[in-house]
Amino acid sequence: MTDVAESTSLASLLMSRSLGDPELQRATDATDDYAILPDVSVLKIGGQSLMDRGRAAVFPVVEELVEAKRTHRLLIGTGGGTRARHIYSLAAELGMPTGVLSEVGSAVAGQNAEMLGYLMARHGVPVVGPSAFAVLALRLDECGAAIFPGMPPYDLWQRVPDEGVIPPYRTDAGCYLVAESYGCRRMIFVKDEDGLYSANPKNDVSATFIPRATVDELIAMDLPDLVVERPLLELMRHARHVRQIQVVNGLRPGLIRRALEDEHVGTIISAD
Ligand code: ADP
Ligand code: MG
Repeated sequence: MTDVAESTSLASLLMSRSLGDPELQRATDATDDYAILPDVSVLKIGGQSLMDRGRAAVFPVVEELVEAKRTHRLLIGTGGGTRARHIYSLAAELGMPTGVLSEVGSAVAGQNAEMLGYLMARHGVPVVGPSAFAVLALRLDECGAAIFPGMPPYDLWQRVPDEGVIPPYRTDAGCYLVAESYGCRRMIFVKDEDGLYSANPKNDVSATFIPRATVDELIAMDLPDLVVERPLLELMRHARHVRQIQVVNGLRPGLIRRALEDEHVGTIISAD
């Protein structure tokens, strides 16, 4: 079919069928997905794992990011961490719903973005909030990097989890979805462990390191706890662009740069 014929049939399907119609959905997939910012790397700087460790952890990471932005275009998302956990515990104890926890928790990722922004200000790196994403491309062009708060702005519309009230899509999902939506080159999670282990190494000394795993393998392993938010696995399954992520240890100097050079220096999780 020619492009014109294809778009005509899509147009007529859209006019005549329900938006859930399978044939209509297939027709919207006929054209290649367009990568909006294909040369950009998205990095998530952990909240609990890095920002909460203060100066000793944050300053070296800032230095690495400044160095990396000479050769890579970077979108830097921030996590929440201990202060988000505190507000979740208060709000849950008060009987607040998931949507309210999502709203109040996102303030913390915003605070971390603001502080990281001030630390990187002298290097010309701005902070861009979700409401100003339209200028993101311009900021990247001007500055080579931009910082954003990692929490997805679902707020009251956050999906309610199967159990409890903690928002299931938090800053790991938020940063990943920016990378995926913009068709970015790579997604790197910078945390405080060498990557994924068979259990949380902070409270299980027998945990073993897993250098590489697919999403399906991870779902089958059903590990007690993960180094990334579990719903991320489902998001990756449906990814059009970012089909793999790497989790690296930001406390070890040089790993951010090496991960940006596509070296395998942490755990690689892939959708295929
Ligand atoms: P962030 O600071 O990005 O929010 P988190 O603190 O939420 O990061 O997640 C990283 C933490 O996950 C690690 O510090 C580690 O203690 C914990 N963790 C839980 N399960 C695992 C696992 N299976 N492998 C490695 N780390 C794990
Ligand atoms: Mg977290």
